[in-house]
Amino acid sequence: MHEITIANNLLRQLTKIAQTKQAQLISVNIEIGEFRSIDKECLEFAIDNLKDNYPLLNQCDFKYKIITTLAYCLKNNHLYKPDFVNSFKCNQCDSGIKAIIQGEEFNIANPKFSNVVN
Ligand SMILES: [Zn+2]
Repeated sequence: MHEITIANNLLRQLTKIAQTKQAQLISVNIEIGEFRSIDKECLEFAIDNLKDNYPLLNQCDFKYKIITTLAYCLKNNHLYKPDFVNSFKCNQCDSGIKAIIQGEEFNIANPKFSNVVN
């Protein structure tokens, strides 16, 4: 379950940000691209269980957002959604992926801190 490693790395990274702000992190959005092979439920479970080890994060409300995969196909530049079930092939012309437009994200977005005035 590589989500534990990912969770610990994420929590360490967030702790550094909180330390810089000298504040408690109270909420953050975690954006997960579908193409990243990260299981949202596993990650959520890992973070819930690990966050108590991080004093600046243990009050944080973690929110998760899945980013849909979108790509251009090799032959005709069709914009399509590559999927495991169709071997990631274009649904219009059956060619492969030329470029992934979105879906590989793993981002920290919109962190909110306890004692920062916006
Ligand atoms: Zn195509």
